[in-house]
Amino acid sequence: MSVLNADPQCIFCKIIAGQIPSRKVYEDEDVFAFHDINPWAPVHFLIIPKRHIPSMAQVGQAEEALLGKIMGLAPKLALEQGCEPYPQGGFRLLANTGDQGGQEVHHLHFHVMGGPRPWLRG
Ligand code: 5GP
Ligand code: ZN
Repeated sequence: MSVLNADPQCIFCKIIAGQIPSRKVYEDEDVFAFHDINPWAPVHFLIIPKRHIPSMAQVGQAEEALLGKIMGLAPKLALEQGCEPYPQGGFRLLANTGDQGGQEVHHLHFHVMGGPRPWLRG
């Protein structure tokens, strides 16, 4: 399913396909997660749908289950990757959307950032 939808120009579609190497955090039939190549924080990984959706701007009711799955995974993966427990620990969950939203890669992704401060950014 994801392969049929892949955008050949998209760097994250290539990461899902294994054409660009990444440090994988998690994978199932719908979702892929991997460490950000340029981390802002001690823990910084991205959760992405395997289906090429450009951004949150293209999300509608049809994506509710997929987004629900990603939201459910975020706290579990955050703890597994070394974020400390809430409330002293916790994490930041971020989806930059569009140019003015600071989005650089146009394949929907959720940043999960955490770990002891100070962070490089954010
Ligand atoms: P955006 O600014 O679009 O929200 O975030 C894109 C993120 O993708 C950036 O934090 C950037 O470091 C990360 N990124 C861009 N290219 C690659 C790559 O080839 N591999 C990995 N692992 N992360 C990437
Ligand atoms: Zn893509």
